[in-house]
Amino acid sequence: MTKQAHVMVITPHPDDAEFGVAGTVARWTGEEKKEVVYVVCTNGDKGSSDPAMKPDVLAKIREKEQLDAANLLEVREVVFLRHSDQSLEDTAEFRKEIVRLIRMYRPEIVITADPYRRYIWHRDHRIAGQVTLDAVFPYARDYHSYPDLIAEGLLPHKVKEIWLWGSTEPNHWTDITTTFDVKLAALRCHKSQLDSHSFDVSQMEEWLRQRHTDMAEGKGYQLAEAFYRQEILW
Ligand SMILES: [Zn+2]
Repeated sequence: MTKQAHVMVITPHPDDAEFGVAGTVARWTGEEKKEVVYVVCTNGDKGSSDPAMKPDVLAKIREKEQLDAANLLEVREVVFLRHSDQSLEDTAEFRKEIVRLIRMYRPEIVITADPYRRYIWHRDHRIAGQVTLDAVFPYARDYHSYPDLIAEGLLPHKVKEIWLWGSTEPNHWTDITTTFDVKLAALRCHKSQLDSHSFDVSQMEEWLRQRHTDMAEGKGYQLAEAFYRQEILW
């Protein structure tokens, strides 16, 4: 029997969760003593502009980077689904894979990328977000959705809240003033990505600080992460 978690973070690629929600994750695992599980949908094997980089090598590097970041954030477990980067599709198989994990870990909160961010948005983000929303409601909740999962002992589970990062219409903010530094440290674990986009790490800090300052505007604290959050009442 899998140990239940309070929060399930479903990230399209290694590093998206750190950009989207790491400051909040650090608060959850720290002062709030919540158990957090990461689900990493793809292996990120296309995430390099270096022609000499081998995708299978990159996938291994990125898995290690993701584990290092999760460790810093005191994430309890990281589940790697190892789909190829840029390959996610809204299929019955992928949806069931997510439902299975939701029924195993039985989280109160599921958080992922907002699929409804318009125009330029990575297709894997759009698909992971959409499939997660559908998996949460109604597929994980409904008894008759998957007789074979029931036969395995994976009973229906009702997620209480869905949170989306990358939303253009946020309605919920968390104070990450005290956890910004650990978010930054977690992002620095994704070294292959920082190198690949010739991103100067000191520039990243400045850019990120400004981004989270903007998100905190009018909130009465310095730095925020912003989400679209919905309670699931049905
Ligand atoms: Zn991504």
